[in-house]
Amino acid sequence: MANIAQQLDTVRQRIATAATKAGRNADDIQLLAVSKTRPAEDLLEAIEAGQTRFGENYLQEALEKIAALSNQACEWHFIGPCQSNKTAALAQHFDWVHSVDRLKIAQRLSDQRQSSPDSQNERLNICLQINTSGEQSKSGIAPEQLEELASAVACLPGIRLRGLMTIPAASADFGQQRTPFRLMKQLFDALNEKGYELDTLSMGMSNDLEAAIMEGATIVRIGTAIFGART
Ligand SMILES: *Cc1c(COP(=O)(O)O)cnc(C)c1O
Repeated sequence: MANIAQQLDTVRQRIATAATKAGRNADDIQLLAVSKTRPAEDLLEAIEAGQTRFGENYLQEALEKIAALSNQACEWHFIGPCQSNKTAALAQHFDWVHSVDRLKIAQRLSDQRQSSPDSQNERLNICLQINTSGEQSKSGIAPEQLEELASAVACLPGIRLRGLMTIPAASADFGQQRTPFRLMKQLFDALNEKGYELDTLSMGMSNDLEAAIMEGATIVRIGTAIFGART
């Protein structure tokens, strides 16, 4: 079995090195451990090695782990596709949802967060997912639709618009990896110039975290490099 603590350490060093190269402070980049398909024991190993933030894609599986680890101080981020039938559970059990790409979903999350018994009135943190590859099959809104969606989402009372998220088309080339991340940073800066107070760029995975950090990522979402290949 892979040594999760060791792999976590390696990822933290990759982040630190990339931050230095980018002239950034590594403390400004949060590591989200993407634990989809992994059993709660693996997460516990990561927790014991100091990891607190976990990203999950599949709701049922995530809810089981959230319950199993309820005595741990974890922060739970949902990063999978958001359908209407999931929003109530997301609003109740998660701290963040990175994958919002429709107003209707944002409205439901806001309403359900406000009526959720567990949330103690803290707003749910949201990122809007951008489709940077142009592939029809991918989730996320087109960059041209961002401003309209952001303006509608920003005034919903149960959620807090924190930033933008993307899953770009895979590339092995560092220069090509940077292109969609650079676009994300431009979209992020443009919204902030208009008065939004975004602080989050959720981008970068096991194979492209260096490129994402070079372009301004504040949360990198890392699965394989921490937990090993998924079967
Ligand atoms: C699975 C997944 C990741 C992690 O990908 P790795 O390549 O395993 O690091 C990050 N973000 C999202 C949205 C994912 O679904």
